[in-house]
Amino acid sequence: MGQLQLRAEVMTLQTRHPFVIARGGHDQIRTVQVTLQDSDGVEGWGEAAPQAYYGETPETVLAALTTYATALPDDPFDLEHAERVLVETLDGNASARAALSAALHDLVGKRLGVPLWKLWGLAPMEAPLSTFTIGIDTVDRIRLKVQEASAYPILKVKVGTDRDHEILSTIRQETDREIRVDANCGWSRKAALQMLPVLAEFGVTVLEQPLHPDDLEGLSDVTANSPIPVLVDESCMTTRDIPQLAGRADGINIKLAKCGSLREARRMISVARAHHLQVMIGCMIESSIGITAAAHLTPLVDFVDLDGAALLANDPFVGATIKAGQIRLPEGPGLGVHPR
Ligand code: MG
Repeated sequence: MGQLQLRAEVMTLQTRHPFVIARGGHDQIRTVQVTLQDSDGVEGWGEAAPQAYYGETPETVLAALTTYATALPDDPFDLEHAERVLVETLDGNASARAALSAALHDLVGKRLGVPLWKLWGLAPMEAPLSTFTIGIDTVDRIRLKVQEASAYPILKVKVGTDRDHEILSTIRQETDREIRVDANCGWSRKAALQMLPVLAEFGVTVLEQPLHPDDLEGLSDVTANSPIPVLVDESCMTTRDIPQLAGRADGINIKLAKCGSLREARRMISVARAHHLQVMIGCMIESSIGITAAAHLTPLVDFVDLDGAALLANDPFVGATIKAGQIRLPEGPGLGVHPR
């Protein structure tokens, strides 16, 4: 198989609508496509979805990848060791490492001629239904988005604004579908406690990241008073964050761009289970490469939020698809992603 060659290319992804959450929004997202090619010409693909909130940009990803290129494994099947060496070579840079992790797993699956989910012994149809996200917007555009999302049985609504009641009331007027909310750290403890009856009024079933990531005492208070599960996202990056969340939250949202590896994501699922926490697998806005890598974890979790590629107007790839909320994993080897 010989020395792996690494290529990286910035992709500019266009969302169908400007995508706004509690801390701002965009309609163009830049991610980095990563290719690892072995000496037989077999390619593994991955995608880095850097987040400014976590101090990453496409430029920091490209810079990190030039360092990681010097630390690639001679044998891509040696996955545990390969990922450990990447962290030891350069810590942080989770989205760049996640792209390499996906590319290595894709390459291994392709060399063996089996889909990654089969290699992992998973049954794709066991995955829970995925939500579709409604970003923060005007009342008229929220109505339009809810209509456009008619194929999705569960909506994830971005809140954390001073007009959350209006947002929820607008959506409830349009649909009786299940609603989950994500405040993206946008509430104070007092605001969160005041919102709990409002969430009940509109039949919301899950509350994600109500408070600032460091406010664990506030989180305990909100969770203790909440009749619905409270999940954390920004408060939980890797396995190490999980023990302190036990008893303070009901669950965690795992994303490859935060934890830096498919294998770390699987460890997080196990550790969360050991602490009686529920698990969501989420995503950034990314193409079907990144979404398909994350989708391989769906048979192992309780909640799925993998609409990142569905929000795009120009996804260059085809991989995991979502039909009526049900994720379908590709039958092809590795990640099973191909160009559109
Ligand atoms: Mg979130």
